[in-house]
Amino acid sequence: MTDVVAEVPHFRMYIDGDWVDTEERYELINPANENLWATSARGSVEHADAAVAAAAAAHKRGDWRNMPPEERAAVMSRMVEILNERMDDLVDLHVAENGVTVRQAMAFHVGYSISHLQYFADLARTYAFEVPGPLLGYPTMAAGVTRREPIGVVAGIVPWNFPMLLAVWKLGPALAAGNCIVIKADEKTPATLLEVARAAHEAGLPPGVLNVITGEGEEVGRRLSVHPDVRKIAFTGSTAVGRLIAQQASENIKKVTLELGGKGPNIVLPDADIDVAVDGALFAFCLYQGQACESGTRLLLPDSLHDEFVAKMIARAKQIKVGDPTSFDTDMGPIISAEQKSRIESYIELGPKEGATVAFQGEVPDGPGHWVPVTILTDVTNDMRVAQEEIFGPVLCVLRYRDVQEAIDIANDSDYGLSAGVWSEDLDAAMDVARQIDSGTVWINDWHMVNALYPFGGFKQSGIGRELGPHALDEYTEAKFVHVDMSRTLDRRVYDLVLPAQEG
Ligand code: NAD
Repeated sequence: MTDVVAEVPHFRMYIDGDWVDTEERYELINPANENLWATSARGSVEHADAAVAAAAAAHKRGDWRNMPPEERAAVMSRMVEILNERMDDLVDLHVAENGVTVRQAMAFHVGYSISHLQYFADLARTYAFEVPGPLLGYPTMAAGVTRREPIGVVAGIVPWNFPMLLAVWKLGPALAAGNCIVIKADEKTPATLLEVARAAHEAGLPPGVLNVITGEGEEVGRRLSVHPDVRKIAFTGSTAVGRLIAQQASENIKKVTLELGGKGPNIVLPDADIDVAVDGALFAFCLYQGQACESGTRLLLPDSLHDEFVAKMIARAKQIKVGDPTSFDTDMGPIISAEQKSRIESYIELGPKEGATVAFQGEVPDGPGHWVPVTILTDVTNDMRVAQEEIFGPVLCVLRYRDVQEAIDIANDSDYGLSAGVWSEDLDAAMDVARQIDSGTVWINDWHMVNALYPFGGFKQSGIGRELGPHALDEYTEAKFVHVDMSRTLDRRVYDLVLPAQEG
């Protein structure tokens, strides 16, 4: 719920169906102009505990988990209607909180969030929560049933790059399956996620079923990942923190879903349509200023196309307009924070020291705002740190390859395995390459098209588990086998293994 304090909006946390404030507050800074645009509550370990207690009480009460799935779906669909009505406000909030451009916010950050929430509502209607299995004839005559039941209290920890979408990927399947959930927003970006909580409140979600808290990762995030009453934790963010969370979660053998970093290899095959692939390669690493985990940041070009492709890409990159994200004319906005900006700049400086060439750097606005130019590094080899480490900015590494097998080997020579791309006019050839890449997603002649109907997640150190598609609900349920004896007599062949014969 929003108040207006000192002329800027103030966001409170949502715990047990109530709006909770704190004395200590975060100042939320607009990355495009460095102005204070809002404040938010700053949650503590006590708030994490209160939110988990509310979720545990709601789970025990059982009104949500025992509600027929189609009724849960109806509440979630009401949330979707409310969010749709507030689309314009959500877009404005999103642009202010993380600097995404208004066009991208409409399509991706907010548009995907709402449509993906609808997907999970629909999934609740069709998911097989109880499936009778084959009759069991031996050793006893029995019927078997497989049930998928909610896990209980789930916690989600989300980053700043897609704060609403990545929260929907957690609360969507959690709610559809009948769980109760606590989500911690990133310190910098609580606003749109708290609007999702407001929609849930107005849609009639029972208190405690969804709780949204704020706070420091090492304090509040850590508490959620060690909390004994949290049965599952779902995290999106850096691989370093993901590793910590997996360790912390092992305390009480929590289930863990991790969606971590990436270094997406983008392979252009020699027969690709160059003009299409050039735009595709730029789109792959420039969406949201390259601050997307599944960006295409390693461009693999055959020697035969390299020079022409790079020249065409530079010509197109020069046309990208970086600036005010609220303007419909702007193609790219700012970087989230001064800290992230200097991290990206340190990689741009590192590139030439490792032997790369800065083939292109774009224009950025003067004045306040965290601006980093579109940067294309050529002469990159895969052993360089710029090719192996996630830069998380608009920086592309261009690598050459001699034959397709070498391209596949380079693509797979990475600790990450989140996303990849192949560009070719020959779909059989592209599919053949797609099969050989160790990656959770491979786009052929496209990029960033994350589809709610299909699984999303990483091979190798890019993560554990999958967030979208029908199997997302498997990750938020426990499987239970129920055996129903049909013979009504104790089967002596089996019981005699343990018990002496009954007398009489
Ligand atoms: P981060 O991993 O530090 O933070 C993500 C979330 O985890 C935040 O909500 C944070 O509060 C929380 N967190 C931090 N420490 C925690 C802990 N010890 N226990 C529990 N929760 C904790 O990400 P960042 O610092 O915002 O960004 C750093 C780098 O992470 C980026 O440069 C990028 O490489 C990567 N990143 C990846 C993604 C992604 O979508 N995969 C998103 C954001 C950042």
